[in-house]
Amino acid sequence: MPQNTCPRDDFHHVTQWVFDLDNTLYPPEMALFDQIEVRMTAWVMDALKVGKAEADHLRQHYWAKYGTTLAGLMREHNIDPDPYLHAVHDISFDHLQVDHDLIRHINTLPGKRIVYTNGSEPYARNVLAARGLEGCFDAVYGVEHADFNPKPERQAFDMVFAKAGIDGAKAAMFEDDARNLAAPHDLGMRCVHVAPQRETGDHIHHHTTDLTAFLSQLTA
Ligand SMILES: [Mg+2]
Repeated sequence: MPQNTCPRDDFHHVTQWVFDLDNTLYPPEMALFDQIEVRMTAWVMDALKVGKAEADHLRQHYWAKYGTTLAGLMREHNIDPDPYLHAVHDISFDHLQVDHDLIRHINTLPGKRIVYTNGSEPYARNVLAARGLEGCFDAVYGVEHADFNPKPERQAFDMVFAKAGIDGAKAAMFEDDARNLAAPHDLGMRCVHVAPQRETGDHIHHHTTDLTAFLSQLTA
């Protein structure tokens, strides 16, 4: 399938729209996650009494193994998630810009629209406000709404989607981490990978480098 194509027929049945937050509702070049990673490394250095190189290694290792650094810290080191989430998300949002086209296209999507992030809900609301997107969604869910189980775990999706009333047969998921599309695919959702690099897999129905452009084809 050519880059950024968006057959509208594939979304005619969709009345529930689920968006990841980081690097999905803002492009990776806005580099918010770079700030978060610096704070994660500092947290790991302090909490586990390790040097920077080891902290960076563990941060990456837990992300790869568990889906998030937090999940590894909780499971292997029993850390308290709340202070961690507060510390790593205490960043500047100055790099985020309002995308009026994105706001307009999201507001045009018919039905329920939610955000589901592996970050926390308060952080997500800060990001949405900085992007001018705070009025676009019916609800915002963070990792705390899945008892701190992260995407890509199936039980995390099950918990959040039960709270949100998401029915996979009627829903679509937009996400930059392709791992996090496997469970939505199994739930029958339309799965859109939003990322600079294309990845292959049966769980990816569409790929786009530009969420605003993709949605413009859906809502035209
Ligand atoms: Mg993301």
